[in-house]
Amino acid sequence: MFSPISLFRQSKHLVLLAIAVAWWQPNHINAETNWQAGLASEVITPNGSMWMAGYASRTKPAEGKIHDLYAKAIALESPNQTRLVIVTLDLISIPYPIRDYLEAEVKKRFDLPPAGLLMNCSHTHCGPEIRTTRWSDDGLPAERLAAAKSYVTFLKSKLVQVVEQALEDLQLANVSFCRARCGFAMNRRLPSPNGYRNFPNPNGPVDHDVPVLSVRSTTGKLRGILFGYACHNTTLGFYQFCGDFAGFAQLAIEEANPGALALYMQGCGADINPYPRNTLELAKQHGQSLATAVQSALDTVATPLVGELRTSYDKATVEYSTPPTKDELVERTNSSNKYVAIHGQRLLTQLAIDGHLRSTYDCPIQVVQLGDKLKMIALPGETVVDYALRIKSDLTTTPDPGASVWVAGYCNDVFAYVPSRRVLLEGGYEAGDAMKYFTTVLQHGPFAQNVEEIIVRKVYELNKSLEK
Ligand SMILES: [Zn+2]
Repeated sequence: MFSPISLFRQSKHLVLLAIAVAWWQPNHINAETNWQAGLASEVITPNGSMWMAGYASRTKPAEGKIHDLYAKAIALESPNQTRLVIVTLDLISIPYPIRDYLEAEVKKRFDLPPAGLLMNCSHTHCGPEIRTTRWSDDGLPAERLAAAKSYVTFLKSKLVQVVEQALEDLQLANVSFCRARCGFAMNRRLPSPNGYRNFPNPNGPVDHDVPVLSVRSTTGKLRGILFGYACHNTTLGFYQFCGDFAGFAQLAIEEANPGALALYMQGCGADINPYPRNTLELAKQHGQSLATAVQSALDTVATPLVGELRTSYDKATVEYSTPPTKDELVERTNSSNKYVAIHGQRLLTQLAIDGHLRSTYDCPIQVVQLGDKLKMIALPGETVVDYALRIKSDLTTTPDPGASVWVAGYCNDVFAYVPSRRVLLEGGYEAGDAMKYFTTVLQHGPFAQNVEEIIVRKVYELNKSLEK
């Protein structure tokens, strides 16, 4: 009957059965959780017509919308009561005065430290313009400026609300990480006899990872899906407010998972475009492709977030290349390219006021440890793909080969393109040519060649500080 051998056989079978059941569990049945999660969403579509951001060549304000733009938030709290609130925005940019405002408000109102606030923008080029500093206001007609200022006031109040609601929504949850891949993003820097052109380059580097953080209630109901992709959100450039592929992806995910909130986090896609592009139909298709990738990630065996949440945030001081002389700036003002001429004039004004041009910029770097198995790196600016590939390669292998690294760009302060050393040396738009279009912070030209090392060093320093 129950000989020691048959008992052994039975228990061996039971163990095997338990392992098989555990292995086959879909990712919505996680182990007992002690994390909390909260979710919130606010519409941030402008109430009236106003000018749009993303293309300096636009000649008129927006004419209606395709769908709404959103500020969304996911709040996480681990057993040690450390909190992280990730705010995602269907906007072109996060100017530093917006980050500074929200950082101060959430500290004052909810005692959330700067390291506990992570902001990311989708970089849609079909959102409103955001004017926050004297250089971004420079030369605008009074009526346009008034609308832009009024939008900033509206946006600030919505941002505080969405953080507050996400914190109020905190409740026990199963939070887990999974990933898939998606392929419509292609490198957009094509070498040519005249330098690097903005043109599809199938041989250039890309990051096709689709990292996904899912939040389920303790009964298994899907409540939230934070997902990322590294690709310029620029299928479109027309005159209607729209979240582009990222907006359509969020809508498709929410439609496929009723009751769940989908939040998009832009990756290091500064030198990557969606292809093909330029029609609304293509934006919808890319959105659906990304949503399908997210659904397939949800079908995989996910890694539950267990352990503690640890957050860090600091500024890295990046340097610029040698500044132009006053004579060179005067020469720029005579350029036949009106953007070069305007930029030259502004720099001359800056020189007259300050006595010098900007030589450094303090940009925010954030590293978050989400339990024992997931690390999130939030980089500032329009970050090129080399950063994600390098940091994932360096940090994934140590100390735990089973752990994952999620690298996001367009976080906390989008002040310029942030090239890698490779892109900087190659030259072209992302290397420094685009500086003339950035007005929140007036910058004369390319970064110094050590920009990548300064940023990556700060990431590794913060990562080290989070080790137990
Ligand atoms: Zn861009």
